[in-house]
Amino acid sequence: MPPAATKSAARIPTAIETVLKVIDIFRTRPVGPETHISCIKVVDFDQTCIIKAPMNMPTLSQTHEAIVIGGGIAGASIIKSLKNNHLNNFLVIDLGNSPAQGTSGHDGALCHPYVGRGASRLQRLSMIAFNEAKQIWANYWSGKGVLHLARNAENHDKKLMSERLLSQGFSFDNAQVISSNEAKVLCGVSLAGTFFPEGGWVNLKQICEDLFSELTDQQTMMSCTVKKIAYRDKYWLVYDEEQKIIGVTPRLFLANGLGVKSLAASANIDLPLKPVRGQLSTFGYKKGSPWANCQPRVALSGKAYCLPPIEMNDGSYQWMVGSSYDEHEEDLSVWDQSHQENLSLIQEMLGTKCDLAEIEPVDAFVGIRCVASDRLPIMGPVKGHPGLYILTSLGSRGVMWSALAHQMFTEHLAEELRHSAFLETRFFAGARLAGLGLSEDLVSALLPARFLAGASNSKPILPSG
Ligand SMILES: Cc1cc2nc3c(=O)[nH]c(=O)nc-3n(C[C@H](O)[C@H](O)[C@H](O)COP(=O)(O)OP(=O)(O)OC[C@H]3O[C@@H](n4cnc5c(N)ncnc54)[C@H](O)[C@@H]3O)c2cc1C
Repeated sequence: MPPAATKSAARIPTAIETVLKVIDIFRTRPVGPETHISCIKVVDFDQTCIIKAPMNMPTLSQTHEAIVIGGGIAGASIIKSLKNNHLNNFLVIDLGNSPAQGTSGHDGALCHPYVGRGASRLQRLSMIAFNEAKQIWANYWSGKGVLHLARNAENHDKKLMSERLLSQGFSFDNAQVISSNEAKVLCGVSLAGTFFPEGGWVNLKQICEDLFSELTDQQTMMSCTVKKIAYRDKYWLVYDEEQKIIGVTPRLFLANGLGVKSLAASANIDLPLKPVRGQLSTFGYKKGSPWANCQPRVALSGKAYCLPPIEMNDGSYQWMVGSSYDEHEEDLSVWDQSHQENLSLIQEMLGTKCDLAEIEPVDAFVGIRCVASDRLPIMGPVKGHPGLYILTSLGSRGVMWSALAHQMFTEHLAEELRHSAFLETRFFAGARLAGLGLSEDLVSALLPARFLAGASNSKPILPSG
């Protein structure tokens, strides 16, 4: 038995050796800074000092400044915000083998401000978001206006409607109440309504594809399903289906549509999201068909919506009409019933009784919208979960809400980086959006916290929409 003094002297180099070994582990298997030191276990602190790291300990290549889950328009708008803030060490993960394989595969998504009876939050937010969308998605914008049809054409009171629009902040330049005669000249159809000269449609798929084409292989991880997320020592860990850590980050963005519900639940966050299946039909009809007599020159919206028909090389027409709305349905196959619904809605809207034998479905787009219980988008940092952000529930307004989110996240990240701290209880809107009328109550109406806080926040925010 060696004397006590000798034993104690012998332990000193072992402790140093421990430290060196730890440093060595960080050097050779570099992990996210101070973060994962708690994962490292000293299993035999004696003569040999063995240090063991868990099998699935993340390596430096898995640590990113930001991780975005979802490669649809929500993910694309966040990627743009990260790039604007020079946060280029990011990773986008999607279960598809290419971007926009989900709802954002839509190539003709309509965009115009919402018109309701009063200045609801939806109406006020949509005016701001429309303004952003026109600028941010300008390169993908098509069309020469949108005619939003009056609900009741017979009682279409131009004076009353115009006053209502003025009181909601519209001007004659951006919203014109028109009679059916005026509509015939302006839009090609004799239908009264509100004309939005700046309205149009956007190719969501193209936006996503173009943005992804600029990313490096290191910035994307395709064909990979994220199964759960967990927060450890100031970092978010992202797990795949085999429970393997595939990414580590201080900033995690959940932008994976309806999939946000289960990922948020894995971090004990309960969000009231539901699926709403939608089918958009492309109908074809021949040259000279009676359908060719009611051809709008602009996009129409109302109970259904349609784009102006496109003339094909052989003189026939293709006409995009949508979209069915089936709550709690997630079937992605094409339904005949939805084609029929779309056709009868558009007939009702146009007041036509053309022969159904003269028109047939030639193509379809089916997607599953993600909709929150109050039908507003969910965007912003998650209170009580530092570094976690959500962008989902874009519902039927992906064009507008993604543009608003892009501007909000750009400003918010800039502010966070300025202060080197997460602003988890606030969503920083910035002077530009505030100038457009984005007030505190509107920002609160977007935050995930509206579903996470107490009873006062649980009542529906929006009666209309
Ligand atoms: C028929 C139809 C018509 C519509 N018309 C319009 C319109 O006219 N105007 C308009 O503005 N909007 C319209 N919309 C809505 C618009 O398409 C959506 O709001 C928008 O595309 C939603 O984008 P997103 O990025 O949130 O979701 P998505 O595009 O669905 O993207 C989510 C992505 O996350 C990925 N993902 C999901 N879970 C995981 C996971 N666990 N791990 C990894 N990746 C995952 C998916 O693969 C997908 O790529 C329409 C929708 C439908 C269905």
